[in-house]
Amino acid sequence: MALWDLKAKRAGLPLAKLLGAYRDSVRVYNTSGGYLQAPIEEVKEKAGQSLKSGIGGIKIKVGQPDMREDLRRLAAVREHLGDDVPLMVDANQQWDRASALRFGRAVEDLGLVWIEEPLDAYDAEGHAQLAAALDTPIATGEMLAGVPDLVRLIDLRAVDFLQPDVPRVGGITPYLKVAALADHAHLQVAPHFVMEIHVHLAAAYPRDSWVEHIEWLSPLFEERLEIEDGRMLVPDRPGLGLSLSGRARDWRLDEVEFRADGR
Ligand SMILES: [Mg+2]
Repeated sequence: MALWDLKAKRAGLPLAKLLGAYRDSVRVYNTSGGYLQAPIEEVKEKAGQSLKSGIGGIKIKVGQPDMREDLRRLAAVREHLGDDVPLMVDANQQWDRASALRFGRAVEDLGLVWIEEPLDAYDAEGHAQLAAALDTPIATGEMLAGVPDLVRLIDLRAVDFLQPDVPRVGGITPYLKVAALADHAHLQVAPHFVMEIHVHLAAAYPRDSWVEHIEWLSPLFEERLEIEDGRMLVPDRPGLGLSLSGRARDWRLDEVEFRADGR
């Protein structure tokens, strides 16, 4: 990732442009207000705050021990947001195949953007059966740590939204291989976490995609990503457009310098 950053800097281009960006912004949704343990009033309030800040979609976690509680919370959030706000759910691999199908059938009318990680991350066949059985799109892929596992999801048509994670998949070069194959299969790509890097990669994917707004890494960088009208703007600075914050410098254990002039 550092080498791609350096290459884009040498070219004087944002990474997205170096990769052939299709657009200057990417749809963005928030995850960090919808955890399982948060009381529903708090989930609703945080969703409202996210939308007010310009974020375009809301994702909440599901997978409570009693599925009826998931359905109640989801209905409450949908009612609070109205029918037009894009809404996703994420089960973080909590269900078996039968439970996932039961949930999926129960929520078909809610118009969800996707149901994420309904099953074990490696159950590609199970995801394929679910994707075939439901109208609601299926998303997964964040846990997979290599190109072959993600390609298996593509080959089996196990997802509608593929969710690679660029650090986990091994960097930008393997990510681009996966993205090319996902595009060939006419899939959507909604990369997982690390919005700071994925905003570039999502802008360079042919279909308009989503990035996940999680602000946990913000203390590492001086810059802040801008959000407008439901979309995250691709930084116009060269490379990834990030520099380490003073705080992050204090956290360093060791350092190596790569010179941009090639010496
Ligand atoms: Mg997830």
